[in-house]
Amino acid sequence: MNADFLAHHPQSGMSEDLQRHYSLTLGRDDPGCAHFYLYQALVLTVRDRLVAQWRATRERYAGEDVKCINYLSLEFLMGRSLNNALLNLDLESAARSTLYEWACELEAVEQEELDAGLGNGGLGRLAACFLDSCASMSLPVVGYGLRYEYGMFHQRIENGYQVESPDRWLRHGNPWEFECPENTRIIRFGGRTEFYNDSTGAQRVRWCDTHEVLAVPYDLPIPGYRNGTVNTLRLWSAAATDEFDLEEFNAGDYTDAVAAKNEAEKITMVLYPNDASEQGKELRLRQQYFLASASLQDVLERWQSKYGDDFSRFAELNGFQLNDTHPTVAVPELMRLLLDEHGMGWDEAWDITTRTMAYTNHTLLPEALEVWSVRLFGELLPRLLEIIYEINARFLAEVADCWPGDCERQRRMSIIQEGGEPAVRMAYLGIVGSHSVNGVAALHTELLKQGLFRDFHELTPAKFNNKTNGVTPRRWLAHCNPRLQALLDESIGSDWIRDLNQLEKLAPLATDVAFTEKFAEVKRANKRDLVELVQRECGIEFGLDMMFDVQVKRIHEYKRQLLNVMHVIHLYDRVLRGDTVGLHPRCVLIGGKAAPGYAMAKRIIKLINNVATVVNRDPRLRDWLRVAFIPDYRVSVMEVICPGTDLSEQISTAGKEASGTGNMKFMMNGAVTIGTLDGANIEIRDAVGEDNFFLFGLTASEVDVTRQNYAPAAIIEQDEALSRVMQLLDSGHFNLLEGGIFEPICQAIRSPTDPWMTAADFRSYIEAQRQADASFADSACWGRMSILNTAYSGRFSSDRTIAQYRDDIWHTRGV
Ligand SMILES: *Cc1c(COP(=O)(O)O)cnc(C)c1O
Repeated sequence: MNADFLAHHPQSGMSEDLQRHYSLTLGRDDPGCAHFYLYQALVLTVRDRLVAQWRATRERYAGEDVKCINYLSLEFLMGRSLNNALLNLDLESAARSTLYEWACELEAVEQEELDAGLGNGGLGRLAACFLDSCASMSLPVVGYGLRYEYGMFHQRIENGYQVESPDRWLRHGNPWEFECPENTRIIRFGGRTEFYNDSTGAQRVRWCDTHEVLAVPYDLPIPGYRNGTVNTLRLWSAAATDEFDLEEFNAGDYTDAVAAKNEAEKITMVLYPNDASEQGKELRLRQQYFLASASLQDVLERWQSKYGDDFSRFAELNGFQLNDTHPTVAVPELMRLLLDEHGMGWDEAWDITTRTMAYTNHTLLPEALEVWSVRLFGELLPRLLEIIYEINARFLAEVADCWPGDCERQRRMSIIQEGGEPAVRMAYLGIVGSHSVNGVAALHTELLKQGLFRDFHELTPAKFNNKTNGVTPRRWLAHCNPRLQALLDESIGSDWIRDLNQLEKLAPLATDVAFTEKFAEVKRANKRDLVELVQRECGIEFGLDMMFDVQVKRIHEYKRQLLNVMHVIHLYDRVLRGDTVGLHPRCVLIGGKAAPGYAMAKRIIKLINNVATVVNRDPRLRDWLRVAFIPDYRVSVMEVICPGTDLSEQISTAGKEASGTGNMKFMMNGAVTIGTLDGANIEIRDAVGEDNFFLFGLTASEVDVTRQNYAPAAIIEQDEALSRVMQLLDSGHFNLLEGGIFEPICQAIRSPTDPWMTAADFRSYIEAQRQADASFADSACWGRMSILNTAYSGRFSSDRTIAQYRDDIWHTRGV
């Protein structure tokens, strides 16, 4: 079939194509229902249609004088792709009826796909949601990332402890990817620099004696929602150069040659499993540079093939969005390429760099702020270090101009951190080299301007802007909650999927009896699916009429899963004391991965599991409380969890969660939030109204004040409920045969320097939980709150976020 026809009529010929791929492409002749091969054949069938639209999209972009944006990210947490492609190309019913001929359920075939877990959590999932929105708005945006052989590790729970195992997600191949060896780039490391005079006599710099590694691109199609657009995610894979191998081989060092090959390929072997913290490992800096250099060379080469050496319009037609500081080494790398490879002068190169680069900050946590020792930087990337010194010297001269004689300010603002081992501050490099610096929620951006980046904000206030995060309503509503999708379509039409503000049409229906009954029935059916998941994965039986209270996200002290467990212990204590007045039966679900080196986070997982064991095996609790820890939390698991949740736990210490996006997925699916005034929770509460949100806890500024003389011991002593919780923890009630394992947790809660202020928020948290119980007991009240949460979730669509990037930062347009 001709590609042009297929691009316009993706539904036609599905059945024939599936049959052909099954028997000819895959070479299967067994007619039995082998789900794995059917999955492969269905992907190939869908992929043909994507490829047809992909080509058409490339031609459309090439034919327009339009600015292309390159989204650079070390993480893309894509999850599964088949379901998303079927939805966006409107192929779901065609696929379903085709599989019917094979006596197979679409859902069963979809389960064959492994999640692409090339990210840790929110930051990587944001990149994935952004790609969906960009394609759905026909924006010429290319995602650039790394093709890790091992993505986010798998988590299982043994005796309550997290056990990690590698995620070999490519072991059965990846039918979505297209290797493009013709676009291979060479990446250099190490060596030294030297001056030379070029043919015009001008002094230039050469980077020599380097080790070279190949960057081989693999392209993945990113379909827009029913608009014929298919964008590209280009992932780089590291490979050894042939020359390198051959040299060693000729010298007789066969094994050394192979070892060198492994050394090169190590670069994209594994995703660093740290969320919101940095380890400062050399391999990580190699990964960052590998991504930045390969992607920039790619963009420059494409430019040259079209415009030759004329870079006069380059900044007008290209942009780079840096997803956190991880790819900010792109700033000096673009300078190097323009100066050394394209013979440009400093001022012209700097003008292009600052006009094209834009940096997104994702966190205020000090442990996440990347700095690389000057020593390591100099060994690995000597030419880039020279360029960074030059950028810094020129920048500090500007600072001195602005604040003459203020040496302290120059020291504070220097890209090179002095005192102790000198280090490169990657965030400052990102700010100085970019025309835009954005935070990811209103509070976060304000805190950046007043705190971390205060000096920079004073110098260049116009650079700073906010772009509150969002999530794609295709995956996080239409795909994951087909029952709600159907109800929305019949109630308010189907335009909401492209224009999520249309959900506001639900608001008047929040008191409509017929509608609220249907809405409740959808939630109940979704809870049934979640019950099944929890039964299968945890062996715990959740009760449909109980409140489903859920906290799933990376395990981190700032996210305060500990506060959640303390509430669970408090409920346990209340039931055992017979204090059940006003209590509503609950099922508490907690899930998330801890970084393998983060001992306290792993201990908190153990505590959750031990508390769950004690609660679940006690028959006195059976009607009141059940607790489960869901292993291996990931995108495809969240797709089942968020539609079946009643209460969404967003309980971070105020000022610590930059935005959160899990909070938005839950809200869209009708969960009510219990949360602090942190990140996007503030905007969620503004949108839905204070009556439809359970607020508790100190504000960010109260946290700062309270920290001055924080005395958790006194708080515990004055609060009977908290004292009893601490008593249960101290006495080893949850670790009878495992002496002392939770002592570090008790100490952390009691520490006057506890950065997370858990004891400070306990009282207000349990009071908010009591209100949640009361509201849940009144099903009309809860139904109204739940509907209003969905109704006012429109502004948390990543389409809104991307429209703001497009208009305020990128200045591009849909094509
Ligand atoms: C949305 C999402 C996150 C981010 O959750 P937060 O609650 O915002 O931290 C992390 N992991 C997965 C798999 C997600 O889908």
